[in-house]
Amino acid sequence: MNYDDILNYLFHEEDIPERCFLCGKEMSRPVVVRHIESMKMIHLCEDCFINNQSDYFLDNTRPWLDGEHTGYTGAEPRLRRIVVAIKQVPDTTQVRVDPETGTLIREGVPFIMNPFDTHAIEEALRIKDLFGCTVTVLTMGPPNSVETLRKCLALGADDAILVSDRAFGGADTLATSFVLAEAIRRSGQERGRVDLVICGKQTIDGDTAQVGPGIATRLGLSQLTLVDRILTIDPRGRTITVRRKLEGRREVVRAPLPALLTVVREINQPRYSSVPRRIAAANPTLEVWDNTFLQLQTGKIGLKGSPTNVKHIFAPERQPGEILGDGEKDPEGAVQELITKLIERDLLVT
Ligand SMILES: Cc1cc2nc3c(=O)[nH]c(=O)nc-3n(C[C@H](O)[C@H](O)[C@H](O)COP(=O)(O)OP(=O)(O)OC[C@H]3O[C@@H](n4cnc5c(N)ncnc54)[C@H](O)[C@@H]3O)c2cc1C
Repeated sequence: MNYDDILNYLFHEEDIPERCFLCGKEMSRPVVVRHIESMKMIHLCEDCFINNQSDYFLDNTRPWLDGEHTGYTGAEPRLRRIVVAIKQVPDTTQVRVDPETGTLIREGVPFIMNPFDTHAIEEALRIKDLFGCTVTVLTMGPPNSVETLRKCLALGADDAILVSDRAFGGADTLATSFVLAEAIRRSGQERGRVDLVICGKQTIDGDTAQVGPGIATRLGLSQLTLVDRILTIDPRGRTITVRRKLEGRREVVRAPLPALLTVVREINQPRYSSVPRRIAAANPTLEVWDNTFLQLQTGKIGLKGSPTNVKHIFAPERQPGEILGDGEKDPEGAVQELITKLIERDLLVT
């Protein structure tokens, strides 16, 4: 399916009703959503869209509220490119810590795509399904990271870039986000404007959650972290509206494009790749960008560009637990005591 086919399918001019599916009023700017029961696309006026979201959206369906609802055949794709930053990480469920040195034993540990990044690529592919834009996957890592990039191609990404060079080795989050930002900038020059960058919330090895914000800051992109749902994208008005998953609450934010999103697991359910796609992705030679190509200052990359100094790594000591009540007499009193203690420690908000 090419872009025109998708638009024909989703927004065929003859299929757009004049009246709102719910209230029956005439619509000047219809919004397309998927009806939960029938799974059909339906058209709502803006009022019904705003007031009835939860009833009419499948959790993973994207309601694209496009300023003037211009998605008709022949329109130029206005959302052009998405770059997804993915990292190949050791499967931490199989990593052990050397009791003497306190360091990770990586030998023989299989590598996987960072789990949060599987949701980042899925979200990019869903946007691609609707807007027909291009999805580029990007990773900085050792040569064997091509395997993870191939998995992304098999899922439906259009192209892949491996940033790899000994000079980039030993990078902390500062140097990593610098190199990735420069690679994204370069990819914009080589392959066209980047509208969105999508990252995972954090990795399961480094766990810092600093790389996404680091890239956004360097490239001057709107920074939308912890996104659990994209509500709307308006490529003509150049805005994106997302919901952020914060502690104990959700926050809806609208920001100008281009933007960088870091996504949480709840945003979607990643798809599986098909066998034909996997076969097709197994062969192509992937582009590798080294520092001869990127020409980055050696003082800003790798170990030299990494001011972080890791002095000691250790697992924090576990505090012994506390048993409240005796489990038989006065269970309600024990629960009350537990609640009081949680509130005292700021672990429960009343
Ligand atoms: C002094 C020092 C030396 C280090 N040397 C090495 C080393 O030699 N090799 C090594 O692997 N690690 C090394 N690290 C760890 C390295 O700094 C982090 O793995 C890296 O900066 C990413 O940080 P993070 O894993 O916390 O990512 P987070 O900030 O938690 O990741 C958030 C998101 O950013 C994106 N992202 C993160 N890293 C990458 C990447 N490399 N490519 C594409 N997207 C990415 C992903 O979307 C990810 O979900 C070193 C760290 C220090 C402090």
